[in-house]
Amino acid sequence: MEPTKYIWFDGEMVPWADANIHVLSHALHYGTGVFEGIRAYETPDGTAVFRLTDHMKRLRQSAKAYSMKLEWSVEELVEAAKETLRVNGLESGYVRPITFLELGALGLNPSGARVRTAIITWRWGAYLGEEGVKNGIRVAVSSWRRFPNTAFPNAKATGTYINSILAKMEAVENGFDEAIMLNQDGVISEGSGENLFVVRNGLVYTPPIAVGCLDGLTRDAIIRLLEDEGHTIVEKTLDRSDLYYADEAFFTGTAAEVTPVREVDNRAIGDGTPGPVTRQAQGLYADLVSGKLDSHRDWLEYV
Ligand code: PMP
Repeated sequence: MEPTKYIWFDGEMVPWADANIHVLSHALHYGTGVFEGIRAYETPDGTAVFRLTDHMKRLRQSAKAYSMKLEWSVEELVEAAKETLRVNGLESGYVRPITFLELGALGLNPSGARVRTAIITWRWGAYLGEEGVKNGIRVAVSSWRRFPNTAFPNAKATGTYINSILAKMEAVENGFDEAIMLNQDGVISEGSGENLFVVRNGLVYTPPIAVGCLDGLTRDAIIRLLEDEGHTIVEKTLDRSDLYYADEAFFTGTAAEVTPVREVDNRAIGDGTPGPVTRQAQGLYADLVSGKLDSHRDWLEYV
């Protein structure tokens, strides 16, 4: 990653190299942080951040779930993110807000720990690779099950990502690009950092949020964009065979955008190339974030 000039840290623009925290930070020891991943895109009308307000709302919700007192409002966080992009001169890039517990508590009771918030921005290309976006990626069903409801699957907390990391490492070590995680009941939940869609006999399926996948903002956008085009999206519990028998499959997420899946557990999906619905979803998303679509313009928040 190439450093940018400044990081927004508790209301100040701090030089990249100086945005540091103490090794006794509560978040470092116990994973007590909440975060977001957001993308900014270049459009003919300037830089636009995709669903920035919705992401900051989710950050505040995640903080609330874990009883962290986030002192900044959604509006302040939105403005801070835009300002960070501006001062770093980024026309497009990734935006990572993080709220975490620093010093003031040593045990598991986080009460008294200082709550800190930073917003980091940087240039970031295709998360699963340009080749993956073009021709699709190879995935494997993970031996690691998705974190059960002992934490909040719908809050983006740093600590719970250790689970996704185990799945991602296993997939990569075994020669795959990404993992698909089952939940405790053995049904498909999502990728390690993406939501999943499958297409079969003309219908588009995605697991319901109730299985424990993240209520992804890209997932929501793709459902709405495909519905606008007349597709039927079915939120349905899916098992492993639904993947094997699928005509098409793709991931969605802020980092992954829309990435086709061409193979699962060494079996080709469809004919092993991205299918028409996947291509359509990719095209709609690309048009949307580059300001070429007339609908859903409110999702683009200009810097
Ligand atoms: N699932 C997980 C576990 C994730 O980390 C992400 C990325 N935030 C997603 C799904 C996709 O969510 P979104 O579209 O809101 O980025």
